[in-house]
Amino acid sequence: MGNPNGFIQVKRKVAGYRPVNERKHDFSEVEQTLDEQDRRDQAGRCMDCGVPFCQWGCPVMNNMPEWQDAIYRGDWKSAIDLLHVTNNFPEFTGRICPAPCEHACTLNIHEEPVTIRENEASAAEKGFEFGYVKPIPSGPRTGRKIAVVGSGPAGLACGDLLNKWGHYVTVFEKDDAVGGLLRYGIPDFKLNKAIVDRRISILAQGGIRFKTNVHVGLDLSGSEMLGQYDAICLTIGAMKSRSLDIEGINLNGIHYAMDYLTQQNRIIHGSHVQEHMLIQARDKDVVVIGGGDTGSDCVGTAIRQGAKSVTQLEIMPKPPEKRNSDNPWPYWANIFRQSSSHEEGCERMWGILTKKCIGEANRIKQLQIADIKWLKDNDGRMSMEEIPDTSRMINADLVLLALGFVHCIHEGIVNEFGLECDHRGNIQVNQDFMTSKPGVFAAGDAVTGASLVVRAIAQGRDLARSVDAYVRKI
Ligand SMILES: Cc1cc2nc3c(=O)[nH]c(=O)nc-3n(C[C@H](O)[C@H](O)[C@H](O)COP(=O)(O)OP(=O)(O)OC[C@H]3O[C@@H](n4cnc5c(N)ncnc54)[C@H](O)[C@@H]3O)c2cc1C
Ligand code: SF4
Repeated sequence: MGNPNGFIQVKRKVAGYRPVNERKHDFSEVEQTLDEQDRRDQAGRCMDCGVPFCQWGCPVMNNMPEWQDAIYRGDWKSAIDLLHVTNNFPEFTGRICPAPCEHACTLNIHEEPVTIRENEASAAEKGFEFGYVKPIPSGPRTGRKIAVVGSGPAGLACGDLLNKWGHYVTVFEKDDAVGGLLRYGIPDFKLNKAIVDRRISILAQGGIRFKTNVHVGLDLSGSEMLGQYDAICLTIGAMKSRSLDIEGINLNGIHYAMDYLTQQNRIIHGSHVQEHMLIQARDKDVVVIGGGDTGSDCVGTAIRQGAKSVTQLEIMPKPPEKRNSDNPWPYWANIFRQSSSHEEGCERMWGILTKKCIGEANRIKQLQIADIKWLKDNDGRMSMEEIPDTSRMINADLVLLALGFVHCIHEGIVNEFGLECDHRGNIQVNQDFMTSKPGVFAAGDAVTGASLVVRAIAQGRDLARSVDAYVRKI
């Protein structure tokens, strides 16, 4: 620990976001950066706890005290090297991880936690700036060939390790570009795609082969692939969006959040979308149904497109401002949060049931909504009850459904292999990440259900270890 009094002398300082009036007119990253001295001072707040709960809170088990100390000393090479021991892509998580580590930071019991996520992004950026992040030549090639299907964070982390360990790795991606939801889900204002391209270039130079526009199960069958590769890793995400079974849901002007966000990401990257296919918020009353992060990304996108108004509806009650007694440190705090997008101008409503979509000439015009209250029975089961006389209409020219994801897409490779799925529809795997089909493995959102980038990376890393052991035995 570089500065034993750092946590007493230095207050938490975050870099903050660019001013609303500036950022809401562009899709550049909203987050700013601290200067080097401030960043080092912030890292110096780490107390090097005997039991680093932050590490326990981090799904990839980043070793926070070690690299906070390296940052404090200005030893950026050690900082990035230490990060890479546990996390393939600190430049992604440093930007977009919700940072459960900070919730678990010991300082968080009575003080403000260390700015772990921002420190991670800084270490990654310094690592790239000084040329410490380079393609790592693989060890002697083993001759084993592994196919990774799906190029999101799980597939990339898995492919990265297997390639470094000497196997021939080919990553197949059905989209025209690599990255999964990093590329076509998460908006540029949270994660600039140049950051994704920079890492993909390092991976490609390190020897990974990327094949885009190949939909495995359609363009290339699973059985053909099994004949060509020693193992197949399915990291296909959980892309089946949840819908709403209410009257009028098929009206024009009602879209899945993913269709909207993906289209905007593609436009930023030069794709031309035909006029009749455009989903545009300009001058519209936009209603986002779903109060989660995907919904928040829709809010930020609609604001940048020039929406007249943006309203976000959430069926659950508003979370408390502070932790409840049944949600203590060091667990993730279930409290009220405001994203950068919410700050940009959005009405948020909680405890709202969407009852009906009302249109004119087959186009959405209004939503019928009502307030609900949540009841808990003796077994802790929750049920909702509409509050009488609260039913009302709100204007809506564009409705975005951000209700989460059900499971991975079964049509295609999952059905072709006849893979067993759990009761939720996620691909079932054993402790070694092998599916019910020998030689076919799976990880990431496809197995856990929709989750986080850092969890996908953690799963991808565990998957790589199992596949490495498997191909070395056959
Ligand atoms: C809008 C949005 C915002 C998010 N924001 C955040 C955030 O801020 N922070 C955070 O931590 N998490 C966020 N998440 C969650 C995070 O992006 C995911 O948990 C993570 O990307 C899952 O990684 P994955 O590798 O399992 O799958 P994905 O990233 O979903 O990648 C799966 C890939 O597989 C490809 N694929 C699927 N089937 C096939 C096939 N048959 N053949 C070839 N390719 C195929 C898909 O095209 C896709 O590229 C967000 C999610 C969404 C939807
Ligand atoms: S990956 Fe996420 S949880 Fe882990 S140290 Fe970084 S910000 Fe914290």
